[in-house]
Amino acid sequence: MIKELLSEEFQFDDPIIKKLDGYDNVNYLVVQGGRKCIFKTYPYSTSLYDILEAETKVLLTLQAENTGKFPKPIAFNSGDYLKKVDIKGESSICRMLTFLEGAFLGEISPSAKVYDALGDFLAKMDQKLHSIKDYVLQSRQWEWDLKAALLNTKYLGDIEDPHQRNIVRYFLKEYETHVLPIINDLRHQIIHNDANEWNILIQNDRVSGIIDFGDVTYSPLINEVAIAMTYASYDKEDNLQAACHVLRGYHKITPLIASEIKILYYLMAARLCMSVCNSAHAKKINSNNSYTSVSEIHAWSMLNYLLKIGPIAAEASFRGVIGLKTDKPELILEKIKKRHKHISPLLSISYKNPIAMECAAFQYMYDHEGHSFLDAYNNIPHVGHAHPKVVAAGQLQMQKLNTNTRYLYDLLPEYASRLTAKFPTPLNKVFFVNSGSAASDLAIRMTQMHTKKKHVMVMEHGYHGNTKTSIDISDYKFNNPKGPGQPDYILKTGLPNAYRSDLDGAQQATIAINELKAQENKIAAFIAEPIVGCGGQVPLAKDYLKNLYPAIRKQGGVCISDEVQTGFGRLGKYFWGFEMHGVVPDMVVLGKPMGNGHPIGAVVTTDEIAASFEKGVEFFSSFGGNPVSCAIGLAVLDVIEEENLQENAKEVGSYYKKLLQTLQKKYSCIGDVRGEGLFLGIEMVHDGTTKTNKKLAHFIKNGLRDRHILISTDGPDDNVLKTKPPLCFTKSNARQVVEAMEELLHLHYTH
Ligand code: PMP
Repeated sequence: MIKELLSEEFQFDDPIIKKLDGYDNVNYLVVQGGRKCIFKTYPYSTSLYDILEAETKVLLTLQAENTGKFPKPIAFNSGDYLKKVDIKGESSICRMLTFLEGAFLGEISPSAKVYDALGDFLAKMDQKLHSIKDYVLQSRQWEWDLKAALLNTKYLGDIEDPHQRNIVRYFLKEYETHVLPIINDLRHQIIHNDANEWNILIQNDRVSGIIDFGDVTYSPLINEVAIAMTYASYDKEDNLQAACHVLRGYHKITPLIASEIKILYYLMAARLCMSVCNSAHAKKINSNNSYTSVSEIHAWSMLNYLLKIGPIAAEASFRGVIGLKTDKPELILEKIKKRHKHISPLLSISYKNPIAMECAAFQYMYDHEGHSFLDAYNNIPHVGHAHPKVVAAGQLQMQKLNTNTRYLYDLLPEYASRLTAKFPTPLNKVFFVNSGSAASDLAIRMTQMHTKKKHVMVMEHGYHGNTKTSIDISDYKFNNPKGPGQPDYILKTGLPNAYRSDLDGAQQATIAINELKAQENKIAAFIAEPIVGCGGQVPLAKDYLKNLYPAIRKQGGVCISDEVQTGFGRLGKYFWGFEMHGVVPDMVVLGKPMGNGHPIGAVVTTDEIAASFEKGVEFFSSFGGNPVSCAIGLAVLDVIEEENLQENAKEVGSYYKKLLQTLQKKYSCIGDVRGEGLFLGIEMVHDGTTKTNKKLAHFIKNGLRDRHILISTDGPDDNVLKTKPPLCFTKSNARQVVEAMEELLHLHYTH
C-alpha cells in the first residue's frame, strides 16, 4: 500500500524504505537515487488532522527563504499536504516531507560554539514563527506543553521509586508556585517546543536544521529556550554550561527579560519532570517495555543536579550570561544588625561566618547569595526540607479546618492510632503538644502525679528543653556556668560513655542504682536520651538501661525515654532509640522530626499512667493535636514508610560511619566515631590522647561550612562533630562530607 502510494503520488518507483523510530507515529525514510524524503503516518483522528494541518502551515511559513533548514511539506497530486488513507486496515493520515542532511546533535561532541549557534538558530526560527496565528495550536492542551506541565501530575503514580516521585512532586509544586502565577503575562507565540539533541542537525559545527515539528505549540517564548537549555545540558557533567551557551546565543538575537529569566530554572525542572513522568507512564502501559532509556537516566541526573544547585544560583548564572544586573545581596553584618534590633543576641547564630538562608529542598539549603549547602546537620526536616507531601498536607488542611481538640475531627484519633501503632503495646496513650520542651515538661508533671513523688533522676549532659521544668531536668542547661544550678529535687547520674570509661554499661548502671539507694527521696521518674546529643552524640553504654530500668521501677519510678532526637527511624536499625537498648520505657517524649519542622511534640505513655493523670485538672493545649498538626504528622509517617527512610538511614548511616571510621584509622586526632544510623558523632582529640580538642572540631565545622557543608559541634567541651542529616541523605552525600573533612584534616596537619 505504502509503495503504491509513494509511486502514484511522489514518483518513487522502487525506493528503499527504512522504518524510523517515532514517538507516537510511524515514519519512513524513502530513498531512490539521489532523492531522499520522509514519509510520515499517523493514526487518524479529526483532532490530530487539525493539528497536522497547523503543523503544515508552520512548516510552509518557515520555507519562505528556502533555507533548507526546516523540513518542507511535499504536496500530494491533489495539492493537499495531508491524506487520509487505510494502511493495513487502519485509518491513517500521511504526509511527505523533505529529508534534512546533517548529524544529530546527540551524535557528536558539540563545542560551546555549537550551543551558542543553537540559541541563535532557535531565536531566528522563533522570529519567523512569531507572525503565525493558528487557533488550533492556540487551543491545544496537552502534557508536552510546558505551560500545561501540571497535566503530568496524573502520571506521578507511574514513577516507581517513591523518592524520585517526590522529587518530581516537589518541582511541579515549585512550578505551580513560581511559574503559574505569571505565565499569562509572558509573551506567547508558536514555538517548536522540542529542541532536543535528536531533533537538531549539525553540519561543520553549524546548526544546519531542525526536524520534528510534531510538538509545535502556542506557548510562552521562554519555553522554547528552556527546553533547548534542558536538553543541551542534561547529559553533561558541568550541567549548566551548555545551557548558558544556548541562552547567550538566543538572547543575542531576541533579548530576554528578567521575568523570563527568573522562571528558567523552574521551567527546565518542569520539562525534565514531564519527560520522566511520560517515560514512567509509557512503561506502565506497556509492560513489555521496562527499558530505562539513556535520556531518562540523564533526566533524573539533571533533576538531582538542579536540586543540588538550587534556584538562586541558577538564576544568577542565567542573569550573568545575558548581562542582567543583580542587586547586591544585603551584607551579613547588616542582617545581624537588623535582627538584633528586636531579637536578643541570646539566640545564638551558627558559624563564624553566619549564613542567611533563603530556601531549601530535601538535603540541600540555599543561602541568599545562592550558595547551596549540603545539610548534614538538621534532623528536624526529617524526611527532607520542603518535602512536597508534608507541605501539601499542611496547606490543604490549613485551608480546610484548623481548630482545637475540644471538637471532634477524625484526624486526631487517626494520627494517634498511627503513631501509637509504632510503639510496643503498653505505650498506648498520646498527649499532643507543640514542642519537645512542652512534651518533657508534661512528661515530668504526669510522672509526679502518677507516683505522687517529686524527685527526678536525670542524665549528665542531658537536654530536654527550654521550659522551667525541662531546664530543671537538663544538666546541659542547669549546670552551665551561666545556668541556674541543679535544683534540689534533681538527682543527676553520670553519663555511661563507653569511650571515656573503663566500666561497662552494667557496672555504670550499678553506680546509678547505688545513687538511687543512697538518696532518701524516692524518685518519680528517670529521664534520658538513648544517645545523648548534647553530651556529644554518646550512646548510653550497652546494658545500662537494661539494668537500670528495673531498679527505677522497683522503687516506684517511671522510665522516660526522650526520643526527640533519636526517634522516627533515624537510627536505621531501630525506629525508636530505646529499642537499641533492648528496653521498653513507660513514657516517651517526642518532638523535632515528628512534624518535619512544623511544631509538634507529644508524650506517649501507658493507659495506667494516663489514668492517674486523668484524675487531675483538664489537660488542654491550644495547638497540640490540631488538625493541621495531625495531617502533617500523618504525612511524615507516610513518607517515612513510602520512601523507606528508616532503611535508608540504616544503609547510608552504616556506610557513612564506615567512611568516618576509615578516616579515624588515618588520623589519630579522631578519638571516637559513634552513633547509629544517621545520628553520628566524631570526637576530636589531641593526637593519640583522649584529651578533647575543641579548636580542631571548630576548625573542621567552620571549614566545612566554608565548603558548603553543614554540620555542628557539641559535647561538654564542644569537641564532638555532630551529623544528623535529613533521612534522604545519600551515600554520595556522605562521601562528600568525609572527603571535605579529610581535606581539612590534611590542611590541619600541613599548616
Ligand atoms: N529533648 C531533646 C533530646 C532535644 O534535643 C530537644 C531540642 N534540642 C528537646 C527535648 C526540646 O525540644 P524543642 O526545642 O522542640 O522544645
